Amino acid sequence: MNLNLDTRGPLPDPLDEAQRAIEDTIADGLAHVRAQMRKQAVFTGQCLSCDAPVGPAQRFCDGHCREDWERAERARARNGA
Ligand SMILES: [Zn+2]
Repeated sequence: MNLNLDTRGPLPDPLDEAQRAIEDTIADGLAHVRAQMRKQAVFTGQCLSCDAPVGPAQRFCDGHCREDWERAERARARNGA
């Protein structure tokens, strides 16, 4: 009796590649969701761009600050941070 019963080897390459592709897709999705969540930034009572005090439900003191902040957000999302 000298049967080789060890049939467990490394996964075939196609499966490995599929696994990697899935993990990449998930990572991309998570990065996207995180970027979306940052856009829904919580109200802090201060302009998110220049820290000036703002009223309830306001996140920026004016349109310029909002544009600045959104530009920075887009740059951050592009860099994957
Ligand atoms: Zn501001």
